[in-house]
Amino acid sequence: MECIFCKILSGDTPANIIYKDEKVIAFDDIFPKSPVHKLIIPKKHIATLNDVTEYDSDLISHMLFVAKTLAAKYEIAESGYRIVINCNPDGGQVVYHLHLHLMGGKTLNCKAH
Ligand code: 5GP
Ligand code: ZN
Repeated sequence: MECIFCKILSGDTPANIIYKDEKVIAFDDIFPKSPVHKLIIPKKHIATLNDVTEYDSDLISHMLFVAKTLAAKYEIAESGYRIVINCNPDGGQVVYHLHLHLMGGKTLNCKAH
C-alpha cells in the first residue's frame, strides 16, 4: 500500500485526526499554509476528482458538509475560509488520494494553495 493517506486511515502513519465518521476522516495538514489547515478525505481510496463517479456524489457533498462543520468548530466560519481540491499535476496535486483542504485563520491571498 503506497498511498500515504490510506496509511493514515489504517493507523500505519500518524496524523492528528480531528474528525472521523463512517465515510470520512479529517486531520491537520503536516505543512500548514494557514493558521487553520485541515484535510478532509474519504475513507474510500479515490485518486483524484477525475475518478469520482455519480455514485460518489453523496460522499462529495458529505465532505463539504464536514468542512463547513469543522470551519465552525475551529472558529473560522465567520472570518472566512477556503476549500480547495487540487487535481493532477497542473492543479498542484501531490497526494493521489482525494482530499479537500480547509484553510483559514488569516486573509488568504489569491493563490489557492
Ligand atoms: P495536494 O497538493 O495533494 O492537494 O495536498 C497534499 C497535502 O497533504 C499537502 O498540503 C501536504 O502538506 C499534506 N501532506 C502530505 N503528506 C502528509 C502526511 O504524511 N501527513 C499529513 N498530515 N499531511 C500530509
Ligand atoms: Zn489512498
